[in-house]
Amino acid sequence: MSTLSLINLSKHFGRVRAVDQINLDVADGEFLCMLGPSGCGKTTALRMIAGFETPTSGDIRIDDSSIVRLGANRRPTAMVFQQYTLWPHMTVQENIGFGLKLRRLGAQEITRKVSEGLEMVGLAGYGERYPRQLSGGQQQRIALARALVLEPKILLLDEPFSSLDALLRVRLREELRRIQRKLHITAIFVTHDQEEALSLADRIALMNAGHIEQLAAPSELYANPATLFAADFIGAMNLLKADVDQGQLQMGRQRLPMPEDVAHGQAFTVAIRPEDLAVLPADTAAGDGWLGNVEQTMDMGHYRKVLVSLDGIDEPLKAYIPKVQPIADNESVKLYPQRYLVYEGGRKPVEMQRPLQ
Ligand code: ATP
Repeated sequence: MSTLSLINLSKHFGRVRAVDQINLDVADGEFLCMLGPSGCGKTTALRMIAGFETPTSGDIRIDDSSIVRLGANRRPTAMVFQQYTLWPHMTVQENIGFGLKLRRLGAQEITRKVSEGLEMVGLAGYGERYPRQLSGGQQQRIALARALVLEPKILLLDEPFSSLDALLRVRLREELRRIQRKLHITAIFVTHDQEEALSLADRIALMNAGHIEQLAAPSELYANPATLFAADFIGAMNLLKADVDQGQLQMGRQRLPMPEDVAHGQAFTVAIRPEDLAVLPADTAAGDGWLGNVEQTMDMGHYRKVLVSLDGIDEPLKAYIPKVQPIADNESVKLYPQRYLVYEGGRKPVEMQRPLQ
């Protein structure tokens, strides 16, 4: 049973505000991903929790006790790093048992915990090997076992799978999630890979320039990005600058109904997910679709991606269509935005729905 709280936590390096007044409560047994672009401060935040960096100000509490004055080795945390950090001159079992030895556990108990750790990560029987005799994925599993045998209250992971190939990465993260659920351990996982965060997290703290831009469950973050940064960063999105003309949103020669509850006069941006953009033949009679030209179609396996250029809009719009739909390059089509979000300044976006009749 462990919770983690970051309270007004900041870390400044000279004039760089790497982490700037963040507040975050992580629930017992929660898997929280800190996600964001390079330099947003996620690693610095994690390193402060681990005790490798001293906060400039603010507090870090585990189970409601402050840990900021404790040295890294006295904190109830364990960290898995991006690079396999196994000691090359030690066997796998020595690597896993090292932290337990430092804690002065008896030899028998260490042996028992090491074999439980190996079992947990699916590498029973590998104890006698040296790290160089293991694949990258196996080494990272050992690094995970080494962290888990310490029975930390909070497990910290800093891009642990990012140097592995794509297939292995997916396998290992599924495995990690299974183990984390089984042990009911509270985990903070840092990544810049949104797909990883969306597939793993109970909640995602999306970070930008040292602050938390949005804290939400993956589905909520995807469906309702609270800011333009979140809309742009998470998933594919068509972002269109819009003016207001005769009470309607105008983008190039295209129009959309305006939400009622916006403060008029500001600059608007309309955000449309590619899957919310229906693509139909140009001679479709239905309503007021946007006439465009198919620039490119790409087969993506179970669906097709279509790029459609529109009059007066610089970037072609992305749409996803079913594989069976017969749309060819250079064809004239009509686009129908069925759901879109309207952003105005820093205000919360307004959702609009226009299902095709
Ligand atoms: P990445 O994914 O590239 O590791 P990140 O989101 O983890 O990025 P941090 O490593 O936390 O970002 O860095 C946040 C900011 O703080 C960056 O501008 C970085 O240059 C700066 N920074 C980090 N560590 C130090 C340091 N020891 N000294 C000076 N500046 C630092």
